[in-house]
Amino acid sequence: MVELKGKDLRDKLLISLKEQVKYVPTQLGLAVIQVGNDEASKVYVRQKEKLALEMGYKFIHKVFEENVNQNDVINYINELNDDETIDGILVQMPLPKHLDTTLIQNTIAPNKDVDGLTFINAGKLVQNMPSLAPCTPKGIIDILDEYEIPIEGKKVVVIGRSILVGKPIANMLTNRNASVSVCHSKTDDISFYTKNADIIVVAVGKAKYLKADMVSPNTVIIDVGINRIDGKLIGDVDYEKVSELASHITPVPGGVGPMTVYELMHNVYVAHQLRMKEKELKKDNEKKLELTHK
Ligand code: NAP
Repeated sequence: MVELKGKDLRDKLLISLKEQVKYVPTQLGLAVIQVGNDEASKVYVRQKEKLALEMGYKFIHKVFEENVNQNDVINYINELNDDETIDGILVQMPLPKHLDTTLIQNTIAPNKDVDGLTFINAGKLVQNMPSLAPCTPKGIIDILDEYEIPIEGKKVVVIGRSILVGKPIANMLTNRNASVSVCHSKTDDISFYTKNADIIVVAVGKAKYLKADMVSPNTVIIDVGINRIDGKLIGDVDYEKVSELASHITPVPGGVGPMTVYELMHNVYVAHQLRMKEKELKKDNEKKLELTHK
């Protein structure tokens, strides 16, 4: 069994990303918006801040009170949309119930949407067009590629269909010519799917959900789950037993998690490049228009 070490891959990819960022003439900027004081959110934002500062990015962490008025959040996002020093904007989930999550996410300018959750970026992903794609699925693809695990023509089962993980990873794997089955809480007999899979991606949010009797020998297992049990991080896979069967498996911690934060840093860089290209194109078009009117 090969352990898929996302943490090592993150460290390797960070070195080359830092090299690429050196050639950007301006400082890159990331803004994270948090509403309320959710403890898990605070931990996730701290991880993002630490890496952003290590990358030399400007980092804004805006915290709104739990009972904030929705318009205040929207107005703030619009300010960031217009702020030339900010390349990426992210709203930390979950948001309190009185806020419209979809509306808030879609207020982010698509070219600064480093979580890849706006309708525009989600639609581009479905259509296999270049886009800012969600970080965790991007990290999974990078892990599979790093370990030279073939995707094309493989039978993949994704358990979970969230817009953050399950749906985008299913789309990315389909774009890479895998045959993907998506399972969820209403799927009857999930073992039927998992036992026939070459690759299983588990993003359910239930500790040790995927048991050894659901898996055939030599399967690649990607465990996305992060469950805090008695102060420990436990994945969605019963690692001890399933790792005896798997050909490859991501550990928790140290697997998909570290790659997610790396991909966010990468998306900030990609967003900057995309925005600069858009600006150049706009300038060119304006020049062409001027010439045709002369
Ligand atoms: P989510 O939005 O809660 O979605 C969970 C999905 O699992 C849903 O589609 C749900 O089905 C499905 N599900 C729930 N119970 C099930 C069951 N008994 N059998 C089959 N499917 C079931 O969660 P998420 O945001 O995708 O996150 C999933 C896990 O990944 C969580 O532990 C989260 O903390 C972790 N996560 C990790 C990272 C990372 O960087 N490693 C990033 C993001 C998330 P329905 O749609 O039918 O309800």
